[in-house]
Amino acid sequence: MGERYDWAELLAYDRDHVWHPYAPLPASPPPLPVVSASGVRLRLADGRELVDAMASWWTAIWGYRHPVLDAAVREQLDSMAHVMFGGLTHAPAIELAQRLAALSPARLDHVFLADSGSVAVEVALKACVQYQRNSGRPERTRFLALAGGYHGDTMGAMSICDPVGGMHHLFGNALPRQIFAGRPPAGAGVDPAWEGQAWELARRHSHEIAGVVAEPVVQGAGGMWFYDPAYVRALRAIADEHGFLLLLDEIATGFGRTGPLFATEAAGVTPDIMCVGKAMTGGYLTQSAMLCRAEVAQVVSGGEAGCLMHGPTYMANPLACGVALACLGLFASGRWQLDVRRIEAGLREVLAPALAIPAVKDVRVLGAIGVIQLDHPVDVAAATGAAVSGGVWIRPFRDLIYTMPPYVTTDDDIGTIGAAMVAAAWAG
Ligand SMILES: *Cc1c(COP(=O)(O)O)cnc(C)c1O
Repeated sequence: MGERYDWAELLAYDRDHVWHPYAPLPASPPPLPVVSASGVRLRLADGRELVDAMASWWTAIWGYRHPVLDAAVREQLDSMAHVMFGGLTHAPAIELAQRLAALSPARLDHVFLADSGSVAVEVALKACVQYQRNSGRPERTRFLALAGGYHGDTMGAMSICDPVGGMHHLFGNALPRQIFAGRPPAGAGVDPAWEGQAWELARRHSHEIAGVVAEPVVQGAGGMWFYDPAYVRALRAIADEHGFLLLLDEIATGFGRTGPLFATEAAGVTPDIMCVGKAMTGGYLTQSAMLCRAEVAQVVSGGEAGCLMHGPTYMANPLACGVALACLGLFASGRWQLDVRRIEAGLREVLAPALAIPAVKDVRVLGAIGVIQLDHPVDVAAATGAAVSGGVWIRPFRDLIYTMPPYVTTDDDIGTIGAAMVAAAWAG
């Protein structure tokens, strides 16, 4: 397939004119051209194949060209690719909402479908503000978030990302100013110093806080950081005490990545609002969802606006809903739980040799997430180069070399990923 393209010409244009994520123009180093993907493998224009240890930014949990997912897209295409959701509705959206509500932690059965994770977070933030306003507390417009978090790249989502490692300093006063509790420290149980500070911040700002926001148990793009579920319970208690809504962002952790179907389950708490995205469509099409309790939906709908004030053009895109339904259907067999546990055990074994590398600060594994943390920023070109030589695609950031592979990755391929990550850690 790659053969019919003049890659030298295409890549020259790509370098000079096409923006890639978090990249300058012209781009450097140049991205690798992919011509097809199947199972857990990407095929490059020069014929090389790479095991995708990133699952396309954590989305392709069942691998590429999965027969069930391919069929779902084709079948939906035969009736309609898209139709606006304002004033119209369709079965794929209704069934997806039903399925999400059934899978979600108790009682989150009011569903807003959005077109990306960041937008789901924006919708959730707006729902919190509208909820407080309609409850007679219009001054509650700010959020209590965790240091080290990541919630997306739009303005509202950026404002609740880590204030130091995130992008705040680049945007200055353009972002709303939020309130940050410390990153939950590693270790079992809730650190009393952390808890004291979090409660104090909540008390001091209670008049202006609309909601508490966190990625439960694993902070993803903010640093691949794991913390005790007891902290999520502490956040629930803080929210209850002051009448804040608890908004849990499961866009990275949802759909089995950390072990349970949702990381929230490990904490045994129910959020008021939950955002999901990424793996929801199995890496096929962009779609996300904001789920909330009935009372939140009622209060939001009850104020002067009389509605939740948001409506993306591609809201509930039928193709995306169709493939999401098929993707969630693949959870029914329960097989994924064994796979995530198998991958967790495999990653522990194959990443252990990294501890012998002098520049390695930490190696950690939780569910189908494996992380090697260096004591310096990764030389991304050198690390990716070493991994590609080992037949594996990774995308390190900051001081982190990590994998979040598809759940269908075999033990052999986990071995290949581990060896390539260790080689990347030596090189990077
Ligand atoms: C990726 C991510 C987002 C943003 O999702 P997009 O689809 O990239 O907008 C938000 N929150 C978390 C936890 C994420 O991992």
